Amino acid sequence: MQIKTILNRVQKFKSFVYGSVHWVEGAAIPTVEVEIRARVNSRPLCSKCGRPSPGYDRLPVRRFEFVPMWGHKVFFVYAPRRVACLDCGIRVERLPWVAGKRRLTDTYAWFLAGWAKRLSWKEVAVSFRTSWDHVFCSVERAVSWGRAHQDLSGVEAIGIDEIAWQRGHRYLTLVYQIDGHNKRLLWIGEKRTVKSLLRFFRWFGRERNQALKFVCSDRWRPYLKVIAKKAGHAIHILDRFHIMSHLSKAIDAVRAQETRELKEKGYEPVLTKTRWLLLKRPENLTDQQDTKLSELLQYNLKSIRSYLLKEEFQLFWSYTSPYWAGRFLDKWCTKTMRSKIDPMKKVARMLRRHRPLLLNWFRAKKQFSSGIVEGFNTKAKLTTRKAYGFRTYHATEIALYHALGALPVPKTTHEFF
Ligand SMILES: [Zn+2]
Repeated sequence: MQIKTILNRVQKFKSFVYGSVHWVEGAAIPTVEVEIRARVNSRPLCSKCGRPSPGYDRLPVRRFEFVPMWGHKVFFVYAPRRVACLDCGIRVERLPWVAGKRRLTDTYAWFLAGWAKRLSWKEVAVSFRTSWDHVFCSVERAVSWGRAHQDLSGVEAIGIDEIAWQRGHRYLTLVYQIDGHNKRLLWIGEKRTVKSLLRFFRWFGRERNQALKFVCSDRWRPYLKVIAKKAGHAIHILDRFHIMSHLSKAIDAVRAQETRELKEKGYEPVLTKTRWLLLKRPENLTDQQDTKLSELLQYNLKSIRSYLLKEEFQLFWSYTSPYWAGRFLDKWCTKTMRSKIDPMKKVARMLRRHRPLLLNWFRAKKQFSSGIVEGFNTKAKLTTRKAYGFRTYHATEIALYHALGALPVPKTTHEFF
């Protein structure tokens, strides 16, 4: 069996045939070249309009890298013809194995992009003895093809999230589809401003915006306005993940402040002595000790009470009826407002302000929010972290779309991996 036979199995062209196959002498990495010839009597196609056109001349031989085989690099070798197209003038002919002036065949680019979903870009480059740039270009091609061919119909639920990148100095806005049957990253934009989100809605298009039924997002104020304007008919949901993270942050703040206050007031070195304060019968304490104890108890209670309030709030998510969930929320907020713990009161005020949005969570079924955005958030952070070599926004964007976009790939007759 000849290599040509295998090639015809994995990649057959209508108007081109494989010619001789030979070694490249003295190549650093074992390399095989496969000559390609135009089929006799086939007319070249204009690369711009695709029409069969009369030949004009022939360009020098070019090499196009194909999928490596058995530890050998494989190149197609072909001297492209130029055509004299009636409409477009003198053009290079269309080549079925590569688009444009690229050096990697489409098949090889898809091959690398496929591996880049499983390995880091650097690992792919090392594994297939190619450059980081080639891997990047392949992924970029896969993403741009996938985004041009993806089906955006039937998107009913979206989740809006943000992640920090470049050591937390800058933010990205991420919009996910979170429908039960289809979960994927739809769009990425720089920053987390009103404009970022407006750009999403503009890209998504008016018709699709209006088909949205559920929008899940952080309470971040600018978003609320944009969503109300662009998809006001959709139910806007504040999701569990974000609410709970606000509460966690509040507890952190309480604890940090408390520790600082204790230190300032000199309680830290006195911690051993507090044991006696606590063990002694209250009536046996001196006035000074009594004051100290009640002060200390108050400090300790802040962290503990915040924690208990948060735990209690978990109950909120177990309600099924928006009405009873609302009653619970009101009671919790009242209680928290009386707690005299400022960071917690701040959260309570925020929750009160967004009461209708919170209750929408129950109307929109839990499946739309809990965990989905959180899961994506984790994956997105992992992707950007794994790719910390990416200096540019563009590379980060490509990596995220590739990892989370669930983008389509063209149907091929042969699967290479
Ligand atoms: Zn043409």
